[in-house]
Formats: sequence, C-alpha cells, structure tokens
Amino acid sequence: SFTTRATAQPLKNADELIDSVETFIFDCDGVIWKGDKLIDGVPETLDMLRSKGKRLVFVTNNSTKSRKQYGKKFETLGLNVSEEEIFASSFAAAAYLKSINFPKDKKVYVIGEDGILKELELAGFQYLGGPEDGEKKIELKPGFLMEHDESVGAVVVGFDRYVNYFKIQYGTLCIRENPGCLFIATNRDAVTHLTDAQEWAGGGSMVGAIQGSTQREPLVVGKPSTFMMDYLANEFGILKSQICMVGDRLDTDILFGQNGGCKTLLVLSGVTTLPVLQNPSNTIQPDFYTNKISDFLSLKAA
Ligand code: PLP
Ligand code: CA
Repeated sequence: SFTTRATAQPLKNADELIDSVETFIFDCDGVIWKGDKLIDGVPETLDMLRSKGKRLVFVTNNSTKSRKQYGKKFETLGLNVSEEEIFASSFAAAAYLKSINFPKDKKVYVIGEDGILKELELAGFQYLGGPEDGEKKIELKPGFLMEHDESVGAVVVGFDRYVNYFKIQYGTLCIRENPGCLFIATNRDAVTHLTDAQEWAGGGSMVGAIQGSTQREPLVVGKPSTFMMDYLANEFGILKSQICMVGDRLDTDILFGQNGGCKTLLVLSGVTTLPVLQNPSNTIQPDFYTNKISDFLSLKAA
C-alpha cells in the first residue's frame, strides 16, 4: 500500500492517549508477561485503566493454551482477568469455524497442541490429530497407501512441538484429496521465544510445511489478520477507532492494530528494540512507542 505513516512518536502524555480511547487490546507475551514472568508494574497499570472505566482485552497468537488455560495463567500471575476478556488464536480458530457454520458432522484435523483441541471441543466440533498423532510413525512398504478420514472438512495448523511426518502427510491428504477442505492457520509467527536465550521456530514453520505440500494459502485467524479484531469489535460492540492496540511486535501486533484502523502503541518490553523500530528498512510505524505499559502511570503531561 502507499499509505505513509508518520514516524512513531515516543509516548509523552499517557493520559491523553488513555482518554482518547475506550478499549485497550493488549498483546500478552512481551507486554503482560515474558514466558512465565510478569512484566514490572502490570497489575497496577491494569487496575488504573479499569478504574478509569476502560475495557481491557487480551490477544495472543500463542495457540498452545485455551482461553480457560490462559485464565489460569493470569490468575497464577495475580492478574484479575476473566476468560471472556482473553482471545487466543486457539479460540479464534474455533470461533472462525463457528462463524462459517462449519458442519458438526464434519471433522477438523489438528496440527497443533492442546489449546486448539480444548477450544474445538468447547465449540462442539469433532476433531482428530493433535499431540497424540505425534506418536504415530509411518511404516513404508512397497505399495503402502496412507488412509485418511474423508469427513475431515478443515485442517487447523498452529504451533506444534509434536509435529512429525505423519501429521504433515495426514493434513496434506485431507486438503489435497478434498478441494473443499479448509486450511486454517492460527498464526504464522516466524519465531517464538520459548527461552530468551535464542529465537525458536514459530507457528509459521508448521503452517509453512502444509502450505509447501499443498500449494494452498492458509486462512489466518490470528494477528495480523483482521478476524479477531472484527470478532471482538462485534462481540463487545466497540468502534475500532476507539481501540488502542498495544504490542511488542511490529509484524503481528502493530499491523493488527493498523489493519483494524485502531490507534497503536509499541512497547519495548518484548522482542522489538528501538534500533529495529527506527531502522530505515522498517515500514511499520506505530503511532507511539514506550518502554513498558507501566509508563502509563508515570508519563503525565508536564
Ligand atoms: N506462539 C508461540 C508458540 C509462543 O510461544 C508465543 C509467545 O510466547 C507466541 C506465539 C506469541 O504470543 P503473543 O502473541 O502473546 O506475543
Ligand atoms: Ca507479543
């Protein structure tokens, strides 16, 4: 696109930003927590925003947990967040299938972890695959032909630490042999930060495997696709111009906010550094940037 955006501004007056919107969407990893560690000042910041009557929503591309499992994580970290405020890409996959009235007599093949299975189950969909297929091996003999369930009408692919050739072939067969079979990706993050010692292959690697074998493009339900934004704007009846998207990644979070027509704030408490933001080759400019969300408590008008 030829839209040129102004260079991101350091956030100077947090109250002005807070007063200009009614909803904050927070990305999770890099904004609220880092792995299993709460980021400094988060509880006080969320409390302050709630006391001002702001709606808070939490969106994560990490599909390994369900909404309910994230609810527990927030609780463990001492944060007062309800399941209904949490939108993980696992939930988004099930919500998307619901939104298109995916038939309950068809099945979903899952290349992904428990969070996706839990959300599909809660939504009343039949599924196959998931971690248990990680145990399966293919014994090749002359003439061997792998069978697949022809009632599979969708393949959902997310981050999967149990991915193997069996699952790749199974998902590929479902899509290749049935032109109507949907190919849904929870997210296509290139990297994830399982430890902070290095960058690990993200959900995009599993999605890329199926994309490579089927030559089909997935329908992405996680950030930066607009599905979750449309879904939650509709669910809560909020105007996108009344939302500020807060995230630590340019290519998922900030793009997600911009695709939705929201205000955007980049925090430097996660994966993006100031030199990366300010590198001339970076074309994704948030409206504002700041170190961490607890800056909301200290950045007051002079
Ligand atoms: N996917 C996986 C597997 C992850 O581990 C993470 C972060 O921990 C993410 C995606 C990104 O999550 P978020 O959207 O909350 O930054
Ligand atoms: Ca993040």
